[in-house]
Formats: sequence, structure tokens, C-alpha cells
Amino acid sequence: MSIKIEQKIIKSEVVDKASQQQEAASEPPKADVIHMHENLARPESLQGITYKIKTPLSEHALYVTVNDIVLNPGTEHELRRPFEIFINSKNMEQFQWIIALTRILSAVFRKGGDVTFLVDELHSVFDPQGGYFKKGGRYTPSIVAEIGDVIEQHMKTIGMIDSAEPDQQQQTFLQEKRAEYERRQPAETDDDYPRSAILCKKCQTRAVVNLDNCLTCLNCGESKCS
Ligand SMILES: [Zn+2]
Repeated sequence: MSIKIEQKIIKSEVVDKASQQQEAASEPPKADVIHMHENLARPESLQGITYKIKTPLSEHALYVTVNDIVLNPGTEHELRRPFEIFINSKNMEQFQWIIALTRILSAVFRKGGDVTFLVDELHSVFDPQGGYFKKGGRYTPSIVAEIGDVIEQHMKTIGMIDSAEPDQQQQTFLQEKRAEYERRQPAETDDDYPRSAILCKKCQTRAVVNLDNCLTCLNCGESKCS
């Protein structure tokens, strides 16, 4: 940190440890709220969640672990924040880049401040080979973007990002639409959305079906009738 000196220096004195301590003692006690900063010592134990990423690009899954630190536990300032991230896989091909990414992400987590921008940064990475569809039919532009999905999900879980899930009414509407479609085409559905579903431009999910001449997305509800 640097301090800009606006006025002429007219007097100076050597501050020794004893007088500093005296000054500190005479200051009114500040609230001891601990904020995230890079020199915060790592506690002996951290709470974490491990997420599995399975892509069609590799037969081996990636396991992403995000460990959180709980600041000011038990007080009104209690705050859970991501502290470090690890990624493990049997596939070592890309590993030096993955290690580099996780080290940098962890360092940014520990810097403190708003770290939610990382999600957008990761989501904007496009694989020149063209990305893939992940389970559930959603298009993902790269593995890096999918790591971004995991971090976003984690930040929603710990309350750093508001989760804008479709509301109850919307959910029911989508379930009804889906059930209706499946009644008419019983043979062609599986775990995900119907196989004949096409890509929704709004939510990037392969979940758009034709119901009564209306193209309806079974994921986000976007609908266009002809
Ligand atoms: Zn959609």
C-alpha cells in the first residue's frame, strides 16, 4: 500500500516499536471482523465439496474440489468463502495447464474482494475444436468453461452468487410440457431431454421440442409458435 503525501513534510520522528504499541493501545478497539486477504493463514482444516466433471472428450473424469474458509464463525459477520481449488484426474495429458489454472484461481480466491468475475472469465473460454454437449444437453464451449460451471455452482451453494432457478410455477409448467411430449413420443426419450430436441438459443441446451406448432424449450421455457 502506498500513501500519497499531499502536504509538505514539516516534522518527522523515528517511530520505535514501544511508541507504536502505545499508540495502538490508546486507539479505540475496532470490531474484529476478519476479511479475506492473501496473508490469511490456512486453518488446519477446511470444508470442501468435490464435483465430478465427465466430458465426452476423455474417458477419465475430472474431480474438482473447492475448499472454503469460514471467516468470523459464530458471529453476525460469518462468511464462507472459497479458499483453494484442486483438480484431479487420471488423464495427465493436460495436467500442467490444469495445475497452473488451479494455482492461479486459488491465489485469486485468497486475494479477497469480489471473485465472482472468475466465472465469467472461465465461461468465455472457447475450445477451438468446438466444445461439446454435457449431460442434460447443455452446450459447453470448453472444459475450462465447465470448470467455470462448477465454480458458479459452488458459489451459488455457499451464497456468493444468487441462484436464479426457474420458480415453482415455471418448473411445474415445464414438467407438464415434458410429460405431454413424452406421452406422444414415448419411444424416444431417455435420461436427458428427448433425442429429437434441438438447441435452444436462449439457454444453450438441446431441449427444444415441437408441441402443437410451438417450439418450446423444456429447460428454460422459451417458446415460439408458428
Ligand atoms: Zn432454453
